[in-house]
Amino acid sequence: MPKYQPARSGRKESKFRSQPFIRGPLSAFDNALTQFDRAAKTMKLTKNQIAFIREPRRTTEVKLPVRMDDGSIRVFKGYRVQHNIARGPAKGGVRFHPDVNLDEVKALAFWMTFKCAVIGIPMGGGKGGIVVDPAELSTGELERLSRRFFAEMIDLFGPDRDVPAPDVNTNPQIMAWFMDTYSMHNRGDYLPAVVTGKPLELGGSAGRASATAQGMVFCVFQAADHLGLELHGAKVAIQGFGNAGSFAAKLLREQGCIIQAISDVDGAFFAKEGIDPEHAIAHIQKNRTLKGFEKVASVERLKDPLKLLELPVDILIPAALENQITRKNANRIKAKVVAECANGPCTPEADDILEKKKTFIIPDILCNAGGVGVSYLEWVQNRMGYYWSNERVLEDLKTMMDRAFADVLRTSLQYKVPMRTAAFIVAIEKVVRASELRGLYA
Ligand code: GLU
Repeated sequence: MPKYQPARSGRKESKFRSQPFIRGPLSAFDNALTQFDRAAKTMKLTKNQIAFIREPRRTTEVKLPVRMDDGSIRVFKGYRVQHNIARGPAKGGVRFHPDVNLDEVKALAFWMTFKCAVIGIPMGGGKGGIVVDPAELSTGELERLSRRFFAEMIDLFGPDRDVPAPDVNTNPQIMAWFMDTYSMHNRGDYLPAVVTGKPLELGGSAGRASATAQGMVFCVFQAADHLGLELHGAKVAIQGFGNAGSFAAKLLREQGCIIQAISDVDGAFFAKEGIDPEHAIAHIQKNRTLKGFEKVASVERLKDPLKLLELPVDILIPAALENQITRKNANRIKAKVVAECANGPCTPEADDILEKKKTFIIPDILCNAGGVGVSYLEWVQNRMGYYWSNERVLEDLKTMMDRAFADVLRTSLQYKVPMRTAAFIVAIEKVVRASELRGLYA
């Protein structure tokens, strides 16, 4: 039975501690604002336009007391940030992680606004999180925590208001608990459209589980075409082996890529001839993490897991957390293409270094938008009460991703800016236009 432990604040000791959020070089929200400002400058946005859309609309922090299995009460901290709702209800996942903090959730909500806009789905940006390591909790404790989170912020949520989804360490079961909590609060009505990423049996969509990775693969096809890169035999390294990372490995291997390296919280593993993703997935199903993978597969464990990022591969896929490629290691990145399955893996300083090295970055708000793209399709299906085949979902996702990639690449060439700034330009135009058309209420 898990021991009583006060919830960790998630904020690392640093000289920036006295500030309300982590500020300074590794503040995810500062990085997000820098990305925005670069695009705003190129677009010559006015002060009013910037003021309209830069800061989050609503920030909520709650305390979440949960009865643990041993009878004690443990208090967790939860957040939900709605960044922008000009183009539709706030949309974005809920992350369960010991390092969750308000600065991070603000950045993630911010990226969601522009992610939804770049792929043209009618939704705004939101994100949530709980400061917790879910691996420390029993299933019952996890359920009580999830339900309390949703109940505590019930008025924020709704199919036309704010629609959560899975993110780091959350899954379809947790979405089912969210959906049930919301439905029971509404006199038992069946209201699946309040959350996406649900199990198929409860109004989930075909293709949602693999959607983030699938969207990335569609982008990689386009990038390979643009750069003249042969995917068959291309070497790939993937940081993070959760939902996005594991599907990325599977789908790229199906395209003939060689998955030379993978990693998770327990380490990084390398095999020149390639790692079989199915083997790694089976290992995780049995052992929860990749711990000991080097003992059962012919792979080498890297002494420093961060060295995975610096391997001489063709495609590098950060699929873990923010701030992994920074000014400290960007110079040593050797990949030709960086396909960002994670949100915010490259800092602006790293972007500048990679830009000089002519590394082709497929930025997060484009590259990993397939997840929210299929979330949108799930929401549409829930509201119709009619469900599509996997083929239909894939076709719609491909149309969304191909169009978005083409828009961003065209903008990048037109303004002579990196793909990230171009993605922001495409997205900001839509958010500004919607905000101006709506005007100010009261
Ligand atoms: N958490 C995912 C993301 O960062 C998916 C969000 C969603 O489906 O709403 O894009």
